[in-house]
Amino acid sequence: MNKLTIQDLDIQGKRVLMRVDFNVPIKDGVVGDDTRIVAALPSIKHVLENGGSLVLMSHCGRPKGEKNMEFTLKPAADRLAERVDAKVTLAPDVIGDEVKALVDGLQAGEILVLENVRFYKEEEGKGCTPEEQEAFAKELASYGDVYVSDAFGTAHRAHASMAVVTKYIDQCAAGFLLEKEIEYLGQTLEAPEKPFVAIIGGAKISGKIDVVTKLMDKCDAILIGGGMAYTFYKAQGKAIGGSLLEEDKVQLAGEILKKAEEKGIKLLLPVDNIAADAFSADANTKVVGDHIEDGWMALDIGPKTIELYCNEVAGAKTVVWNGPMGCFEMEPFASGTFSVCEAVAKSDSVSIIGGGDSVAAVKQSGVADQMSHVSTGGGASLEFMEGKQLPGIVALTDK
Ligand code: AMP
Repeated sequence: MNKLTIQDLDIQGKRVLMRVDFNVPIKDGVVGDDTRIVAALPSIKHVLENGGSLVLMSHCGRPKGEKNMEFTLKPAADRLAERVDAKVTLAPDVIGDEVKALVDGLQAGEILVLENVRFYKEEEGKGCTPEEQEAFAKELASYGDVYVSDAFGTAHRAHASMAVVTKYIDQCAAGFLLEKEIEYLGQTLEAPEKPFVAIIGGAKISGKIDVVTKLMDKCDAILIGGGMAYTFYKAQGKAIGGSLLEEDKVQLAGEILKKAEEKGIKLLLPVDNIAADAFSADANTKVVGDHIEDGWMALDIGPKTIELYCNEVAGAKTVVWNGPMGCFEMEPFASGTFSVCEAVAKSDSVSIIGGGDSVAAVKQSGVADQMSHVSTGGGASLEFMEGKQLPGIVALTDK
């Protein structure tokens, strides 16, 4: 790591401004899966145990620059309070006199959670001038003596609380979570132990195409599943019925197939599928090969594909997985995703799971603790794997 980390900071008696990712699912005012809150606890506790106080900032949902209390961080702050042995106060706003007074009154060992930073359009920098964004970031910066980022999930965004606030604080460091993400993803891509197998799935090719291309330089095999597989089918001239198709990506899919062949990389597509006559858990289903008739849509990989993919995974030393193999939210189309999940858990490999849906699948199947690393960032982990510089990491202070 060439950036300052939280352990490099002298925290005693300091106010630590920390950007966390508390963008958690909330229903009826209660947090559902609190993984992201739990993931930030090591950094939070480190500050409290070392005589510092904490001002936490996060976004949650998409309030689009307006103070919409539907997106309040109150449920997240309440959950945090249950998880730490410290006074947790939720500020009524992100900036302003009232917030400033609360910050000034903060004692060592206490936590102040600012309201949702996306209540201000300055956070994302959309619909405001750069000067307005700078002023917003400056005010945030005034809340901390030092800055820590543990928000890997947002590190690919050049937002005020990630990449502008850092201009106004001398020491900006990575928290434990961010450091772990960088180390795992970075090391794996730099020097993966071979065989290196990537499993890429999910609804769409767009957004994952760059990572597939990048992985072709490193991987021994790429296993494609999920809705994106059928755009590849289309590129091969196969019938796909009513399966998901990105018409404008067919050519690109064809180019990727060709490139993989030239490079001698195994790019595997499903050899069979679970087809349904409707996008519904009650649909009629049947196992089909790689020809999907009209009136049917492929919603999961089939049993032969499961066997093929699981065998690839079993022999792997490094596995990167992003995106489900089918519509795993519906029971009849979940077996591809869960079977692959179990195979990854069983394999003797360094396994890195990224992307909201694959992480959810891994958790549902109860094997999360058997994975080497479950990333907290979907988009961020993809961009990192594509080799892009993430603004939220670049902005931290060099060692
Ligand atoms: P993504 O956000 O691109 O990783 O896509 C995840 C979503 O893809 C999940 O909600 C899945 O239900 C969906 N998905 C996976 N396989 C398919 C498929 N064959 N057809 C339609 N949607 C799919």
